[in-house]
Amino acid sequence: MTSTSPIKIKDIDRMSLLKARVSNKAEQPSWEAKITDNPITDAFDENIVVHPGLGSMPIAPDQIPAELERLTSIPRSQPKTTAYINVPFCETRCLYCMFYIKPYRKEESKKYADTLIKEMQLWADKRVIQTEPVHAVYFGGGTPTALEAPDIQRIVEAVRKYLPLAKDCEITFEGRLSNFGYDKMEAAINGGANRFSLGVQSFDTKIRQAVGRRSTKEELKSQLKQLLSFNQATVVVDLIYGFPYQTLETWMEDLSIVDELGLDGADCYHLRVFPGSPLFKYIQNGKLPAGPDHALKAAMFTKSIEMLQGMHWNRLSISHWGRTTRERNFYNYYAKSRSDCLAFGPGAGGVLHGYSYMMHRKVEDWSNLVEQGIKPVAMLMAPPKDWCLSRAISENMELNYLNPKKLSAEFNADLSALWAPVLSNWQEAGLMEKEGDFYNLTIAGQFWQTRLTQLLMETIKSR
Ligand code: SF4
Repeated sequence: MTSTSPIKIKDIDRMSLLKARVSNKAEQPSWEAKITDNPITDAFDENIVVHPGLGSMPIAPDQIPAELERLTSIPRSQPKTTAYINVPFCETRCLYCMFYIKPYRKEESKKYADTLIKEMQLWADKRVIQTEPVHAVYFGGGTPTALEAPDIQRIVEAVRKYLPLAKDCEITFEGRLSNFGYDKMEAAINGGANRFSLGVQSFDTKIRQAVGRRSTKEELKSQLKQLLSFNQATVVVDLIYGFPYQTLETWMEDLSIVDELGLDGADCYHLRVFPGSPLFKYIQNGKLPAGPDHALKAAMFTKSIEMLQGMHWNRLSISHWGRTTRERNFYNYYAKSRSDCLAFGPGAGGVLHGYSYMMHRKVEDWSNLVEQGIKPVAMLMAPPKDWCLSRAISENMELNYLNPKKLSAEFNADLSALWAPVLSNWQEAGLMEKEGDFYNLTIAGQFWQTRLTQLLMETIKSR
């Protein structure tokens, strides 16, 4: 949710979190939802952001090489693995974006691809790479589709050469449709990409162009039809609600278009306007109107469920929908699970045995280290004791439920008792409904799912 005055939960005495109601009746526990007639808008204060601050411990920079050596000598043990490759360039910066790193110049493409392939070679013979299959690869950014066609093909081929991909591995190429012509589409498919995820955000030309996107509605539709005509890969688009000028009507038209086009899937995301983003400043300075308010965003969220379900789309996770069975949404789901993630490219983040790590973000730093034969890891964090349980909570909640009994058995902990007051409150507030051992999220609960997940993660610190 958008925040102007974040409260940092990590500043609160963590051990007292669940006891707050008992020890101090005036203090409301952070997980306590308001009991109202309209939980989708009123269950929590939208201006409070919960950062669960899971307690990861940074590894001292001089110990990172030895620790990486140890971690990469151990075979992966989680049931699924993903790989994330970051392409750090964009032709232009979209006003709302916090992932922007560097402007794209045509001459950067070959050098980037050469360096990325060398980076993959650095870990290619490590046990952590070779011992188990990789189930989903994601080329993200940035804008992978900005690269030149021969380099697109080379980097997708390199992934297939240097990583032990499962036979049914999902290989997603992300990007935008401006400057993604036939030659680049063909190069990605020839390289082995079997899924495209394109950032449409909105088909409405005025809305798109107000926030820095270039293509018109007609151009987008024509390019998506061209990509679909290959009939060689899954094609999904991102839609976002929360932009200036967006209305319920423009949002409904976007949802209708993705169905009419015959896409395999669509992701519906809620826009957070971060205070550091250009869009925040544009709105502050009056250059653009504010986007939909909280109530309208809740209506848009509800409408996306009504319309997509009404058109017989399948809900694959909280934000992800499939129209055809070709769409599996592997990467997006496993990225939020306890899976390992192998990371490559400047600014890429990964996970090995619960340790999270991040590559140098500056392209030059990343490139110089790779040229010296050094895996360019800038940051390594040791996992907190409950990282696996936290991820297991996320795995449940991404699929719109919580099963405390099953989690208790798996983690040898009485989570049912720990969460009893929380889940009782959330049921009373209309955020969850109990069905057997499952606590299913209502539509209001789904709207608040990120908050509920973070709050559950926060509660387990008091165990
Ligand atoms: S293309 Fe994507 S990564 Fe680049 S600025 Fe726009 S939203 Fe951000």
